Amino acid sequence: MISVDVISKSYGDVPVLQDIQFNVEKGQTVAILGPSGIGKSTLLRLIAGIDPKFEGTVSRPKNMAIVFQEPTLLLWRSVFENIQLIHPELSTEAVREALSEVGLADKADLFPGQLSLGQQRRLSLARGFAGNPDLLIMDEPFVSLDEKTADEMLTLTERLISKTQPATIFVTHDTTEAARLATQILTLDGQPATLKIKETLK
Ligand code: ADP
Ligand code: MG
Repeated sequence: MISVDVISKSYGDVPVLQDIQFNVEKGQTVAILGPSGIGKSTLLRLIAGIDPKFEGTVSRPKNMAIVFQEPTLLLWRSVFENIQLIHPELSTEAVREALSEVGLADKADLFPGQLSLGQQRRLSLARGFAGNPDLLIMDEPFVSLDEKTADEMLTLTERLISKTQPATIFVTHDTTEAARLATQILTLDGQPATLKIKETLK
């Protein structure tokens, strides 16, 4: 189980987050909603352990994957190597399987620069799921894709989540996206931001 207890987070003198408490079980998906600049990415960085400077505690499993807003790929390495270098324990076959899950089986030898943005996002998703994470963190993974591509990504993500069953925490500003993936929706509001609405869906 992931347990988040953020008492407060500030940048310098500016308080950004305050009193944010929630738990996520394996197999559950929590969506964090809120307007731009409210502190969603900041909260994810605290949860992931990337930013340790806050008051509070987070308990998280070791096996964690993060899918950032930008695909954050190694541009000088092949599509295949982008998965293999992060997951050296995987066999060649398993890497190929991870690529084929996201429809990139025939792109293994290309470089990320030779992929469309949608394909780069799918590669980043495949890299996230390839290690069978206990905790999956995603920061606006479907933003700035056209409607059809975003919809395909959502369907793909739903499938990978139901197969892998991690605890998932993802950030979005799209209520439809949140409703489709999430078992629980948390809304951030105010300055400093606190949890305004906790809605359990499934
Ligand atoms: P969101 O992801 O919801 O758009 P962020 O978490 O990125 O919001 O940012 C929340 C607030 O904190 C914003 O006002 C932003 O300018 C500020 N902020 C984010 N990162 C830093 C940082 N490293 N140093 C100072 N201020 C920051
Ligand atoms: Mg953000």
